[in-house]
Amino acid sequence: MRPATVPCVWSERENGAVSHPEPTHPASVHGEPSVHGEPSARVESAHGRPTHFELVRTPTFAGTALERDEHLRRDSDRQKEGWGSARVLVVDQDGLLPVTRSESRLWTRAGAEFAGSPPPEAMLLGEADGTAYWVLRGAQSLAGAGSEVEWLNGHVVGGEVGSLDGALLATAVGLVNWHDRARFCTRDGSPTMPVNAGWARACEAAGHEEYPRTDPAVIVLVHDGGDRALLGRHRAWPPGRFSVLAGFVEAGESLEACVVREIAEEVGVGVTDVRYLGSQAWPFPRSLMIGFHALADPGQPLRLDETEISEARWMHRDELREALARGEWRAAPRIRSLTRATMAADVRADADVDAAPPLLLPGRVSIARNMIESWVAAG
Ligand SMILES: [Zn+2]
Repeated sequence: MRPATVPCVWSERENGAVSHPEPTHPASVHGEPSVHGEPSARVESAHGRPTHFELVRTPTFAGTALERDEHLRRDSDRQKEGWGSARVLVVDQDGLLPVTRSESRLWTRAGAEFAGSPPPEAMLLGEADGTAYWVLRGAQSLAGAGSEVEWLNGHVVGGEVGSLDGALLATAVGLVNWHDRARFCTRDGSPTMPVNAGWARACEAAGHEEYPRTDPAVIVLVHDGGDRALLGRHRAWPPGRFSVLAGFVEAGESLEACVVREIAEEVGVGVTDVRYLGSQAWPFPRSLMIGFHALADPGQPLRLDETEISEARWMHRDELREALARGEWRAAPRIRSLTRATMAADVRADADVDAAPPLLLPGRVSIARNMIESWVAAG
C-alpha cells in the first residue's frame, strides 16, 4: 500500500519508509470507475447540480511556454550556435534555485559567461522566444548572482513565478533529480554517462540508454455530488492540516483503478464516477500528479489506514471556502525535504491556543489546492 496525502509522502517513499501491507478491506470497493461513461453535463446529483467540474486555472508547472525540442538535444552544432544568447539556470547541490524575490523571477546567467560552447555537464531545458535555456548543477557561486537573489526550494516558489519560469524550474529540478539517481545502468549495473544534452544516459558497458523517469500518482477529490468533500490528514502532518487523498500508481494498473484502490485503502470508502481534472508535474523528486474527482456515499463508514492517515472527514463546502480564505500551509523555503520541513501557516497569530486547530489547506503551488478551489467554486 502506498497511499499518500500530497506532497510529503514522496520523500518518505524515496527513503523506503512507507510500509506496504496488504489491503485490509478490499471488499469495501464497489462500483466500477466510469471515466468513459456519460457526458458530464448529464450527470446530476440529488441536489440538481452537475457533479462534474473543471479546474479553475492551469496547474502550476503545467504551462506550455517552454518549447521542448528533441531534435536540438541531438544537434550539437545548433546548440553551439544558440549558446551566445543562451541563459543558464543553476541548481545548487541541495536542489535550491536562485530567485529574484522582488520580481518573483528565476535568476539566470548568460551562457557566454561560462564558456564558449555548452559545457558537457550542461543540460538543455528547451527554448522560448528564440532563447535556449540550460541548467547546470553546482555551487551557488556559479550563478554569479548578487545579494538581491535568494536560493529557494522549487515547491515553495513554483506558485509565485510566471509560466515560463515555472516550466524551467520543474524541468530543471526533474532532470537533476533523475541524474542523481541514474548513475548506474538498471540492466547491467555499469556506470552511465549523460548524452543528448542531458535527456538520456548511456551505460559504458553496452550502451543501454535510459531516459528521465516520472512516477505517476493519482490525486483525488472525493465528494458526495452535493456539498461535502472527503479530506484526510497524513499522519506526519500537524492537527488541522488536511488535503485531498493521493497515492502512487502500481505496475500494471490503470489510473482509474488506482483511484478506486487508493481511496478504499486509505479511508475504506468505495468511489464511482471517476473523472479526470488535470495534471501537474511534481518533480520533488519525480512525480506526476494526475488529478481526478470521484463520487462516494458519505454514509459509508470511514476505515482509516492508520499507517498513513491520522484523520479523515467529510467537510462542507462552506467550511472549505472559509479555510481557503484563511491561508495555506507553506514549507520553510530553504529546506529540501518536506518531511523534515518546519511548517509555518499563514494564520492569525492571535488564535486561541486552547481552541481546535484551524483547518489549513495545501499551498497554491499544488494541484491539490487548485482542485479544492475548483470544487468549492462550482457549488
Ligand atoms: Zn547497461
